[in-house]
Amino acid sequence: MANYRKILLATDFSEFSSQTAGRAALMAERFGSELSLLHVVEPLPMTDPVYGGIFPLDFDLTGQLLEAAQARLAKMAESLGIPKDLQWVEVGNPKAEIVRVASEKAVDLIVIGTHGRHGIAVLLGSTASSVIHHAGCDVLTVRLKDV
Ligand code: AMP
Repeated sequence: MANYRKILLATDFSEFSSQTAGRAALMAERFGSELSLLHVVEPLPMTDPVYGGIFPLDFDLTGQLLEAAQARLAKMAESLGIPKDLQWVEVGNPKAEIVRVASEKAVDLIVIGTHGRHGIAVLLGSTASSVIHHAGCDVLTVRLKDV
């Protein structure tokens, strides 16, 4: 049986995140694993080049988003007993960032929800589906119940 030394919980702070967090904590306890926490802040649409030069790149606003995300992540990490150096906030595409961070930190299990902020509309959300396809390690998708 696999022994997961490093488990990464990816959270989008949706109403489903406590279900996913509970499962990740349980897995970490069972395997005696190091549990880390990741949230990816998606760049604001205003910074999208598709809008041409109409809007300036608003790094300040992204900075504020980052700060808010860090504070929220710290709260969640505290409830899970995750230390500061294992709480990560990245900016970019969640699908790509989750896979990149997992590889960079040599994680052996990623825990994600089957769904996120967009709710349960399809069988498997697009982030979960993409991470399963591209991750170089095991991925546990927590089957979320509508809340
Ligand atoms: P989705 O495919 O968007 O419905 O999301 C499925 C799962 O992917 C969520 O339950 C989270 O575990 C993870 N996830 C989605 N977006 C993010 C994000 N921005 N940062 C970290 N994890 C995310």
